[in-house]
Amino acid sequence: MLPSELENFFNKSGLKVARYSRGEFSIYCPFHDDSTASLFVNPVKGLFNCFAGCIKGSNGIAPLLKKVETGLDVQFMMRFPDLIMVEEEEEEAPTVDINVDRLPLATVNDYLLRRHITEETIKEFDIKYHLGYDALIVPINDRQGNLVSYLRRNLNSNPRYMNAKGTLVSQLIFPYDRFEATEGQLVVVEGVFDAIRAHQEGFKNVVSTLGGQIRRGQLKILMEYAREIVLCPDRDKEGVTIAEKNVQLLERYGIPYGFTRPLGSSKDLAESTKVDLAVTPSFILDFGQKSIKNFLGVR
Ligand SMILES: [Zn+2]
Repeated sequence: MLPSELENFFNKSGLKVARYSRGEFSIYCPFHDDSTASLFVNPVKGLFNCFAGCIKGSNGIAPLLKKVETGLDVQFMMRFPDLIMVEEEEEEAPTVDINVDRLPLATVNDYLLRRHITEETIKEFDIKYHLGYDALIVPINDRQGNLVSYLRRNLNSNPRYMNAKGTLVSQLIFPYDRFEATEGQLVVVEGVFDAIRAHQEGFKNVVSTLGGQIRRGQLKILMEYAREIVLCPDRDKEGVTIAEKNVQLLERYGIPYGFTRPLGSSKDLAESTKVDLAVTPSFILDFGQKSIKNFLGVR
C-alpha cells in the first residue's frame, strides 16, 4: 500500500495525518487536545503510541482503528485487511507430536508417484516417512525457514491429515519460506502436495493454506506479498464449497481474485499430469456456486 493511500485511509478513518516519514505517520491524537500531532503510527510494524499516554499498541493497529469510530468508512477500511483483521478463533485440529529431524526421508511410494513428486523434490522439501504411523511427514517452516510445525499425512488411516501439536494454522502458509508472488498474484491450492507439485514445476507463486479454506490470519499474510489471489480449488464438491467460502472472504475485503483449475479432469493440481495455471479473473464470470461448479466441471 502506498503512503498516500494510507494517508487517505487514516484521514477517512478520522485520524488526521500531520506528517509522514519513512513508514511513520504523525497524527493529531483524537483522544486529547493535540496541536503537535503526538500520535505516532507505524502500520507496517503495527505500532501506535500517543506520547501524551492516551493509547498505545504494538500488535497491529486494529485496536486503534476500533477506538476511533467517528468518520469510519467501513467499506473503505475493508480494502485493507492487514490493518483491520482481528484475531480469529483457532479451530481444534487433531494433534500429534513427532521428532521430525530423526525420521528417514520418504521414498517415492504410490502416493507420491500418483502426484508426480520426484525424489529430488522429496529431498528439497524434506518429506519424511514415519513407519509407525505409516504416514508422510511434511515439515512446515516459517518465512525464515525455521521448522515451526509439520503435517502428517496418514497413508492408510483416518483422519488423513493431522497437524503438529500446538499448530496455529491461521498463521501458517505452505511453503512459507519458498513462495514468491508473480506479478502480484498468489495461487491458493488446498493441499500441501498440490503446492509441492506446483513448486516442482517451477510455479513459486503457489501456496497451500493447509486445507484450502483461507483463514483471515492467512489472508493477512498473503496480502503482504500479493495484490490478487487466484483460487485453485480441488475438482470435487468439497472444493466448490471451500472456493465459495473463500470468495465470500475475498469479496468482503474487496480483494481482487481469479480462478484457475487443474488441467484435464484430474482431481487436484498434484494429480495432473501437467501443471499450467491460466487465470480467469473473477469479473469474467459471476462466481456463484453454480459457475464455480461449471468452471471446475463438478457435477
Ligand atoms: Zn493522545
